[in-house]
Amino acid sequence: MRYLSTRGGMPAVRFCEILLGGLAPDGGLVLPESYPRVDEETLARWRLLPYPELAFEILRLYADDIPEDDLRALTARTYTAEIFGSDAITPLQRLDGELHLLRLSNGPTLAFKDLAMQLLGNLFEYVLAKQGRELNIVGATSGDTGSAAEYAMRGKRGVRVFMLSPHRRMSAFQTAQMFSLHDPNIYNIAIDGVFDDCQDMVKAISNDLDFKRRWSIGTVNSINWARVVAQVVYYFRGWFAATTSNDQKVSFAVPSGNFGNVLAGHIARSMGLPISRLVVATNENDVLDEFFRTGHYRPRASAETQHTSSPSMDISKASNFERFVHDLLGGDGARVAALWKQLDTEGAFDLSAELPRFADYGFVSGSSSHADRLATIRAVHQAYGVVVDTHTADGLFVAERWREPGVPMICLETAQPAKFAASIREALGIEPPRPAAYEGIESRAQRYTLMPRDVRLLARFIASRAASAAG
Ligand SMILES: *Cc1c(COP(=O)(O)O)cnc(C)c1O
Repeated sequence: MRYLSTRGGMPAVRFCEILLGGLAPDGGLVLPESYPRVDEETLARWRLLPYPELAFEILRLYADDIPEDDLRALTARTYTAEIFGSDAITPLQRLDGELHLLRLSNGPTLAFKDLAMQLLGNLFEYVLAKQGRELNIVGATSGDTGSAAEYAMRGKRGVRVFMLSPHRRMSAFQTAQMFSLHDPNIYNIAIDGVFDDCQDMVKAISNDLDFKRRWSIGTVNSINWARVVAQVVYYFRGWFAATTSNDQKVSFAVPSGNFGNVLAGHIARSMGLPISRLVVATNENDVLDEFFRTGHYRPRASAETQHTSSPSMDISKASNFERFVHDLLGGDGARVAALWKQLDTEGAFDLSAELPRFADYGFVSGSSSHADRLATIRAVHQAYGVVVDTHTADGLFVAERWREPGVPMICLETAQPAKFAASIREALGIEPPRPAAYEGIESRAQRYTLMPRDVRLLARFIASRAASAAG
């Protein structure tokens, strides 16, 4: 399998060469040259596989430059009941006859990002050891991504994580999740500022090419291809769990932000998984809903981006979206490049001429308001006795409009309600259930470094930690 850029300006390379990277050299995103097709027989065989084996079968199609025994060992080590709470890894929970929740948030940080990030941690360690390299991951977080990255990379040889977060601006639970890690390769850096300040500092570090090369700086953001492909696995699992034969279709509803999760659904569908609809559910930050309704793509300015009760979906532009546009335009890299150039100059582009073809891809969309989410949390609790978080509630709310008789609708549960306790109290007047391992997490000893908004200080901090550990 070879990888290309969505903008057509990168020589073809293989999986291990793109694993640690971010953007393609031409500014595009990397994609496989084609999606492998899965035939009926393969589907029937895969139906019987345990999660780690299925993950191996799917990954080997994309990572064919990793010896099979090694890859099988990596997926076996990643997808365990110990880490994900059950052998099912992503259990399917039936709500009513045809409405299901695919529970993706039983990993260490209680959000679906663990499913990809835990694999990424093992892949990084493996490839870095093979290449005799080290990697210093620098990132900014306001919550889910940072903690998923830290729990995936803790204790991994050859990897250090420098995670910036806005001082005293995350929830007590999220802060405790990150700051109670004491692994020597994890550095929590609390910046005296807001999230955008953290992000600006990370950008400044990444734009300093000399520094970046010298200290082998990398990232783990949602455009990482391995993260996307790891997410393809649970679409297959969800479909197997909701069907009994290969001629049945299901739909998926996906609470969406950066378009990474639902992109994996698009890839599963492109591989031949019988998916009827892919429901793109957004919150008040409805860039994606607007696109799928009108064909107009108009990323928002940060001042226009709202802080909502589903904060992990508060995005101004959808980083992974370019990969779908590439497919929609039949892989025309020059046209993708022109569109993103137009985004830079005009701030928007118009694909409304392609609107009739959106249905070929199964995409439909909708958005929810805070009131919609609270009402959904109440309705789901009352009808099924299940507490869902605000992100999952968004998916369930939008899913309702797109259900078809005879077609199971699977809503992806992207986080546990314990992470967003304030909204659960507001909706239900109760404390959300919290997994036993997280009892009292707020009172554990915390370890972090407080730093002003000073890129030179940050650079010095990274260099000194990287140098002392290397020596
Ligand atoms: C990251 C996240 C999302 C959005 O996923 P994308 O892949 O960015 O579309 C939704 N819900 C939760 C809880 C998340 O952490």
